Amino acid sequence: MDLKDTAELASFRETVRAWVGANLPDALRCPSQAYNGIEANEAMSEWYRRLAGQSWLAYRWPKDHGGPGFTDAEQIVFVDEFSRSGAPVPHGFGISMVGPILMRYGSDWQKERFLLPIARHEEFWCQGYSEPNAGSDLASLQTRAVLDQDKEHLVVNGQKIWTSGANHAGWIFVLVRTDSEAAQHKGISFVLIEMKSQGLTIKPIRQVDGQSGFYETFFDNVRVPIQNLVGKINEGWGMAKALLISERMHTGSNQDLRALIDRVKTVAREYPGESSAILADPGFRDRLAQCEMDAECLRYTRYRMETAVFQGKSPGHESAIFKLYQSELFQRVCDLGMEAMGPDSIAWYDDRLSPAAYELPMRMMITRAMSIYSGSNEIQRNIIAKRVLNLPD
Ligand SMILES: Cc1cc2nc3c(=O)[nH]c(=O)nc-3n(C[C@H](O)[C@H](O)[C@H](O)COP(=O)(O)OP(=O)(O)OC[C@H]3O[C@@H](n4cnc5c(N)ncnc54)[C@H](O)[C@@H]3O)c2cc1C
Repeated sequence: MDLKDTAELASFRETVRAWVGANLPDALRCPSQAYNGIEANEAMSEWYRRLAGQSWLAYRWPKDHGGPGFTDAEQIVFVDEFSRSGAPVPHGFGISMVGPILMRYGSDWQKERFLLPIARHEEFWCQGYSEPNAGSDLASLQTRAVLDQDKEHLVVNGQKIWTSGANHAGWIFVLVRTDSEAAQHKGISFVLIEMKSQGLTIKPIRQVDGQSGFYETFFDNVRVPIQNLVGKINEGWGMAKALLISERMHTGSNQDLRALIDRVKTVAREYPGESSAILADPGFRDRLAQCEMDAECLRYTRYRMETAVFQGKSPGHESAIFKLYQSELFQRVCDLGMEAMGPDSIAWYDDRLSPAAYELPMRMMITRAMSIYSGSNEIQRNIIAKRVLNLPD
């Protein structure tokens, strides 16, 4: 990949930069992670609506499905410009996960029915993968679907857990067991279920901060039209894995690391400490500089991976490297922010904190979740050892 802009790319970069400058809602100028789902965060929702109005929300999608049809190089510049200005890069269960799966494996009806509403930010999705007894060992899932006598419906029974944003979603993509006799990975199917279906209920899981970002989802004889089965019956595992790779690539993207590092620097300048500014402490500066260098290395490694993807290669198991490295780097950066804030780091949404410091304790907590979701970091290490490095068991 040539990292120098051509004249066309430079002009495209200017366009994106100007648009972001004019349209990024004020509340996101000191960027925030959508805490309880994008839909629950008013500023993020407004941001997504503005992007959708420009056909930029599903920025990797082709024009006929509601995306902008950017070239490969434009996609990279687009993300780069967002990252430079600290604007949240769009992502979500619809645009980054189920949408690409439907483009690759979905029927014509499914593409027509589901893709445009995702790109226009009109319909929201959630993910029904994990179960109380199937997390890391996802293939042991037990939610069952059987073909009804009418042969036109699947009847789903079982339970999912940790369903993020289930309260806002209109649809859920679910992994179900459709053959209990087959080997674990071979009897799984991928289905799309409307959240308002009869027999589908959700129950909030109360978090330590009193909020509920995720839910238990119960299926009690939920009838799902057979046209909502993606691909062939019992062939859902391949799609499940493809979606996980895409999810890990997203979790492993370096999009707002730069903005987070800048925020930690601001906070470090604001907190003078007992005797002198913490930024004057060589140990602190050293660790911050290391994070900054690591973030740049990650960015360039990502460019390399993106180039391979644009050339038609799959990121495959190497996506685990991004997920692992980025989540731990986020943790290191946030830990430095906590160190700079000292005792204030235990404050939780306290109005006395500066705009830069305000959300940092919450961000630090979210970085802990980053090493669990999209497959825990222990599992990513196993994948890298076995599938990337071919190490023995
Ligand atoms: C914030 C957040 C949002 C989430 N949102 C969703 C969602 O929307 N939809 C959804 O389906 N799921 C979601 N999840 C669930 C997530 O995918 C699971 O938590 C994750 O896959 C781990 O599964 P588990 O919690 O069952 O832990 P377990 O699989 O029970 O693992 C427990 C511990 O054992 C370790 N472990 C397990 N197996 C091995 C092994 N073979 N080798 C080494 N260590 C091992 C794990 O690393 C972990 O530390 C979310 C999780 C979080 C934290």
